[in-house]
Amino acid sequence: MASLLRGEPVAENVRRRIREKCEALQKKGVIPTLGIVRVGSRGNDIAYERGAVKQARALGVDVKRFLFDETVSIEDLRRTLEAINADPGIHGCLIFRPLPPHLDEMQLSGILRPEKDADVITAAAMGQMVTRTGNDFAPCTAAACLELLRYYRIPLKGKRVTVIGKGINVGLSIALLLLNEEATVSVCHIFTAPAEVRRLCREAEIIVSAAGCAGLIGAEHVRPGQIVIDVGVNTGADGKICGDADFSAVEPVVQAVTPVPGGVGAVTSCILMEHVVDAAVRSVQKPPQ
Ligand code: NAD
Repeated sequence: MASLLRGEPVAENVRRRIREKCEALQKKGVIPTLGIVRVGSRGNDIAYERGAVKQARALGVDVKRFLFDETVSIEDLRRTLEAINADPGIHGCLIFRPLPPHLDEMQLSGILRPEKDADVITAAAMGQMVTRTGNDFAPCTAAACLELLRYYRIPLKGKRVTVIGKGINVGLSIALLLLNEEATVSVCHIFTAPAEVRRLCREAEIIVSAAGCAGLIGAEHVRPGQIVIDVGVNTGADGKICGDADFSAVEPVVQAVTPVPGGVGAVTSCILMEHVVDAAVRSVQKPPQ
């Protein structure tokens, strides 16, 4: 039976760090503030926003919301992002995506200054992550995976890791972070032959799945001693939330596995808050020019 790598203790550890940093900031009269830009009213976005606001308040992080209906013009959104850039009272920003088709997402997100890009969606912030310059943010889900691996003291240096999925903010970013940790990383995607995915998974010491495909990892992908980090969030045939791993097949075999829900996802929103707080800390250290 595998040990469960639960996200909650990891999240609590991140929250403890955030509270300490917030206390130090408060003494300097700074309240870390997250700007949320939401266009439209998708249920998932609203649910995430509600959770983020609740979490922020509990931690002493303020939230300013910029809400638009679906017909917002590119100019209005541009002005908002420029105002966020110029506002020293907003330290980090989250933009819900995808934006409606009439808004050029790359162009708009590129307006945001990388030091305020709390979820690392801009090319500039991604570049800083790859080159390890500027702030050391990574997209929140990718950073949450690393946080979880570190918390459970899972060694990465020289370890063979197979990542499934190369979505820019999830799989690809996780692969890059793991390379930075000196792991030997293989990346599979939709065009990797299923037999090759199975082989690379079985060869790995750690499997990270970020495909968004329920049941993708079965008994034939795993062997004893492995660690499985399941980033996928899917709705199973029974209507319940599940990961990419067939939990009942994988869990009896491997050494440790993250549950879904209650694994990586539990850490992700805390990382967003920590990015905002870290951005506030940096703004105090180096006032904007
Ligand atoms: P995406 O669609 O951008 O990328 C999916 C990737 O998986 C692609 O590279 C695709 O080639 C690959 N893929 C899909 N099916 C595959 C298969 N059968 N075999 C091999 N590769 C396959 O999605 P994303 O935004 O990167 O998200 C990936 C997953 O992570 C989703 O389930 C999403 O819900 C989840 N997610 C979780 C969190 C969290 O906090 N836990 C946060 C964000 C996203």
